[in-house]
Amino acid sequence: MALLVQKFGGTSVGTTERIEAVAERVARCRAEGHDVVVVVSAMSGETNRLIGLAHDIMEEPVPREMDVLVSTGEQVTIALLSMALHKRGCDARSYTGSQVRILTDSSHTKARIKEIDEHRMRDDLDAGRVVVVAGFQGIDEAGNITTLGRGGSDTTAVALAAALKADECQIYTDVNGVYTTDPRVVDSARRLERITFEEMLEMASLGSKVLQIRAVEFAGKYNVPLRVLSSFEEGEGTLITFEDENAMEQPVVSGIAFNRDEAKLTISGVPDTPGSALRILKPVSDANIEVDMIVQNVGEDNKTAFTFTVHRNDFKRAQEVLRGTSAEIGAGEVGGDTKIAKVSIVGVGMRSHAGVATRMFEALSNEGINIQMISTSEIKISVVIDEKYLELAVRALHSAFELESAGTQEQS
Ligand code: ADP
Ligand code: ASP
Ligand code: MG
Repeated sequence: MALLVQKFGGTSVGTTERIEAVAERVARCRAEGHDVVVVVSAMSGETNRLIGLAHDIMEEPVPREMDVLVSTGEQVTIALLSMALHKRGCDARSYTGSQVRILTDSSHTKARIKEIDEHRMRDDLDAGRVVVVAGFQGIDEAGNITTLGRGGSDTTAVALAAALKADECQIYTDVNGVYTTDPRVVDSARRLERITFEEMLEMASLGSKVLQIRAVEFAGKYNVPLRVLSSFEEGEGTLITFEDENAMEQPVVSGIAFNRDEAKLTISGVPDTPGSALRILKPVSDANIEVDMIVQNVGEDNKTAFTFTVHRNDFKRAQEVLRGTSAEIGAGEVGGDTKIAKVSIVGVGMRSHAGVATRMFEALSNEGINIQMISTSEIKISVVIDEKYLELAVRALHSAFELESAGTQEQS
């Protein structure tokens, strides 16, 4: 018999009917003799609703109070799910993050888990109970409620699985696995039976929100067997694997990720002298703004144009910082564009194949899509394009790399 951690996301617990369906599944699993710890998200839309309420009161809500507020969503679902389990004769107990004692640091709204006390959960499991834990939340040393960032219930689940040395951490969601790209954007996207941690980490960090990036990091670090599957239908889902077992048969590209979360800033007429990149980017990082892609163009008269991307939420602040810098260093105009999108191809197979970039650029060029910025690593290539061509670009790349029919993996 196995010890399983099962996480159910917002859509999977979106109504009381859905919560009953989850209870049915969990009770069945318990009846088969497995020990089960369940992690749940807030009902779908609830976290957004709470964030909206906070913004009705103030433009930049106090982070500590924001955490007190948004953590309430998950408290509703743990109680309802426990009730639904009791109704089925299945003994269950619900716990908030602080009751378990999921200890985090004090970075409100983006806290990191430091330690988990598994004793209480163990006692319940030993007594034959199902343990239901609120995802997304913890508590810091001083007893303040913290949350782990959007999508953070995935990370709660993986962290509990690591602490309990669970046999598997199962992430139940509204799609039946990890696909070659978001199946809501490309109809012919194909479910992957397996994907390596390395690739999943890239996919998550480049925009595939099916798993929170920290959950993947955590699972990789603590060797947690991780699977993504549907709460709406039966199936094997997708296993995240350590080994690149079939390296020889690896497709060049395993998946395509994208996001619309970034904005681009350009400062022109920058004197082309040593240290200019530092003078531009240091004030940006001093303002706690993260920079993603960077491009510097050689211009005329020893002047260059310097372009970089930041999160869209930081765009206005970055623009202000940059205007100050421009005046200071005698550069020219500061321009910006928030209507951009980043599209990335990901695959460990890229390591051993040449010409991947050419194929990517050709596919985009055939559709008349202009590439504004490029960045590469060993297993990914990202480009920034005009947001309005995003879906076209993803579809073109999906077919250029033959992802709908790759290998022997089953059609889903
Ligand atoms: P949950 O509420 O269960 O945590 P999320 O909305 O966070 O669910 O994540 C599931 C969604 O992720 C899917 O509905 C799908 O639209 C999206 N998604 C993006 N990229 C992928 C991908 N490569 N494979 C599967 N789903 C993806
Ligand atoms: N409820 C939180 C969110 O919407 C956490 C989660 O669902 O994972 O981001
Ligand atoms: Mg999620």
